[in-house]
Amino acid sequence: MGKLFEDALKRVDAAADRLNLDENIYKILRKPKKQVIVSVPVEMDDGSIKVFDGYRVHYNVAMGPAKGGIRFHPNVTLDEVKTLAMWMTWKCAVANIPYGGAKGGIAVDPKKLSKKELERLTRRYIAEIIDLIGPDIDVPAPDVNTNPEIMGWIVDTYSMHMRRTVTSVVTGKPVFLGGSLGRKEATGRGVMLMVREAGKVFGLPIEKSTVAVQGFGNVGSIAASLIARQGAKVVALSDVNGGIYNKNGIDVDAALKKVAETGTVTGLAGTQPITNEELLELNVDYLVPAALENQITEKNADKIQAKIIVEGANGPTTTKADKILHDRGIILIPDILSNAGGVTVSYFEWVQDREGYFWKESVVNERLEEIMVNAFKDVYGMSKKYNETMRMGAYMLAIKRVADVTKARGIYA
Ligand code: GLU
Repeated sequence: MGKLFEDALKRVDAAADRLNLDENIYKILRKPKKQVIVSVPVEMDDGSIKVFDGYRVHYNVAMGPAKGGIRFHPNVTLDEVKTLAMWMTWKCAVANIPYGGAKGGIAVDPKKLSKKELERLTRRYIAEIIDLIGPDIDVPAPDVNTNPEIMGWIVDTYSMHMRRTVTSVVTGKPVFLGGSLGRKEATGRGVMLMVREAGKVFGLPIEKSTVAVQGFGNVGSIAASLIARQGAKVVALSDVNGGIYNKNGIDVDAALKKVAETGTVTGLAGTQPITNEELLELNVDYLVPAALENQITEKNADKIQAKIIVEGANGPTTTKADKILHDRGIILIPDILSNAGGVTVSYFEWVQDREGYFWKESVVNERLEEIMVNAFKDVYGMSKKYNETMRMGAYMLAIKRVADVTKARGIYA
């Protein structure tokens, strides 16, 4: 068993224990349903061939078709994809949307590929996993280093194989290609809503708060910008190249402009440079880790000064760090709740594609808000009822929902 998955299972074990879950049902929930590894040969622009390792994991499909993004990153492994697929299962259950959990990925540094190479890589990967995906089977979406343009190539590849246009095979598409208004902003918008809701319950109103955001990709950049628009002071931002700080608040629009022009937030006028590690340890009200896994660990958890952590990334905090943070009175809004906005609007996109009827952006945002606020209430309610953390509340809620459905369906034999 890989390290990430092993660590992730500890939370599942603890929640199942606390719920007194039927041991027989629990045996099913601890295992991924299907794990596939494919070799993806790609002809490079210079005529040479490179072969990449690709993965797709269906973790659990009790609640509906498998759902989850595709990640292009050099560190992608089966262990990581399996763990992310498990987290998608719990995330969809927390949001109460009718999906199971999946994830896919290719071990590749997409920044080293030309656009044409990236397209060939995507199309061949989809061709290799074509039997695993489909609107009623498994619906991929963007994740780290994948975007609407790549989703467009996926629609086309799948549609060519099916001999008809099937837009609902993937979500996070360009709006003009069956995408949903508001999908691109949805994860960041959900993060902002969770900061706002946490602020109400834990007495740290968003409009009076200071915030540090680690990561300036699709999640971090939109979250920062929407959080600032709520009146909060965003004092620190970062990306892979490093971070920036201004105790009086950073102009997030200027940071977005800087990234569009130069590819990085670092060096933004009127800010001081800081490292990604320093950003995590700033004395702020809210810390939003919105980059990758394993950022807050037993090594730095005792140095975190934020009052509330709202996880934008998947798995930024380890289980050991969870305990240290909790012992120090730091509140944490867990990933499977706080970043569920993306998959929620993916659900709306899939519904719109299947109906062939598209909603106004205000309708998308209203329905997203309703789902996120209800999910927050459900998790908060669970954590209060059992006197547990928000993480534990979210896991208990999700596992109970999936367990109840698994029990009701029974075991096919
Ligand atoms: N990759 C996103 C996540 O981790 C979105 C998944 C989706 O929309 O299916 O939640």
